[in-house]
Amino acid sequence: MLVRAPFQQCPTSSWNPARVPPLNMQAMARAEMTSGTWEGGCLCGAVRYRFTGELRELLYCHCRMCQRAGGTPVVAWMTLSTSGLQWTGRPPASYQSSASARRFFCAACGSPLAFQADDEPDQIDLTIASLDDPARAAPTYHAWVSSRLPWFETSDDLPRHEQASAT
Ligand SMILES: [Zn+2]
Ligand SMILES: [Zn+2]
Repeated sequence: MLVRAPFQQCPTSSWNPARVPPLNMQAMARAEMTSGTWEGGCLCGAVRYRFTGELRELLYCHCRMCQRAGGTPVVAWMTLSTSGLQWTGRPPASYQSSASARRFFCAACGSPLAFQADDEPDQIDLTIASLDDPARAAPTYHAWVSSRLPWFETSDDLPRHEQASAT
């Protein structure tokens, strides 16, 4: 039987992305959700992807850039190794969304699909909602709750960080 880990308060003053373990206890209890083969794509179906491997992180990002880029109060991301990712169908278009990062989307329908930081070429984030079966990948923490919209709240007890890496 899987036992849920108790809520752990994150000391935001000492939070450092490099020290956050890639998966917390809740994610470990759902290990079946974090490795395997994953397929997804955009709304119109022109851009498709397939990933085989292990998910490094699963998170909600409440940052303003994700809100604007997604047109949504929060974006759910899964972080994975670029080596296991294949774009199939039409290649995604990209946009240099900051001095150090690029966002990928479908040029035909506009669906947000991926985020990649220039200084971390070995990993990429995909939007969980673009998976064919997004229920397989549940976020394990909230990032950038400092810009969470006051009218948007979730009832989970996941760790909440004031900030995070610049997704
Ligand atoms: Zn599309
Ligand atoms: Zn973000």
